[in-house]
Amino acid sequence: MAKLPRWPAAALVAAALLVPASHWTPARAGAGPATAANADRAKCNPASFRVVLDVGHTQEVPGATSARGGTEYDFNLRLAKVIEQKLLDAGFARTVLMITAEAPRAGLYKRVARANGLNADLFLSIHHDAVPDALIETWEYEGQEHHFSDRFHGHSIFISNDNADVRGSLLFGKFLGEQLKTRGLQYTPHYTDAIMGSRRRQLLDLAAGVYRYDQLIVLRDTRMPAVLLEAGSIVNRDEELLLGTPEHQSVIAAAAADAVAAFCAARAPRVIPVRAANPMKPAPAREQ
Ligand SMILES: [Zn+2]
Repeated sequence: MAKLPRWPAAALVAAALLVPASHWTPARAGAGPATAANADRAKCNPASFRVVLDVGHTQEVPGATSARGGTEYDFNLRLAKVIEQKLLDAGFARTVLMITAEAPRAGLYKRVARANGLNADLFLSIHHDAVPDALIETWEYEGQEHHFSDRFHGHSIFISNDNADVRGSLLFGKFLGEQLKTRGLQYTPHYTDAIMGSRRRQLLDLAAGVYRYDQLIVLRDTRMPAVLLEAGSIVNRDEELLLGTPEHQSVIAAAAADAVAAFCAARAPRVIPVRAANPMKPAPAREQ
């Protein structure tokens, strides 16, 4: 996300929030006593819940450059593919891995249009972080000059308060942050520091590490809950190595898949038991 220019805040937020009900599972009559976990699972039908996994940036305009010269786009693509597989393994068969060829700014609107057209239930954009240019230092790696900053490390999560479903966005952001935390991963608090200047962000959820970034097109204009994950800093020389390992990608992906499952269950409607009519009892009079 580091290289994205700031866009004008002209709102293109859709007036209507379309919430597809297709992923809701009806309560089954006659089901025996269930554990809380089973009851939670029963609320979500992963086969009809659609997640769009947006691979941040493009092959041609690949975002940040890592401390050893890799591209953010490659990191984003590799992690998004691991998350996609975890979601498919968990039964989220309608998951869409969204790769975009068009460069910003048209490409950003294209991502939004595609997600809206797919009637996605959740939009998750995958990115890797860098730092403002003022903080960049220079080093030599394998005979080449590269840029780095070891000052910050850790992931961060962003939502837009201008999204059509802010509550949903914040809820999924919270679930994602909690799942990452459960796996021992700490978010970076540096987006609240004055040193970040125009990139300083409001922290909406202190425990889970969810920040507010209203202007991001993919968060602002999508008509479903939308969250952007900066999975970690690829300009941090240690964290870049960690983020490149399949083991670490798998940990992040498991956190994302569990967060999606929790969100899918939380979004299912409450089961309201249908009262059987009692013919022996007259209906109460409604008149005064
Ligand atoms: Zn990015």
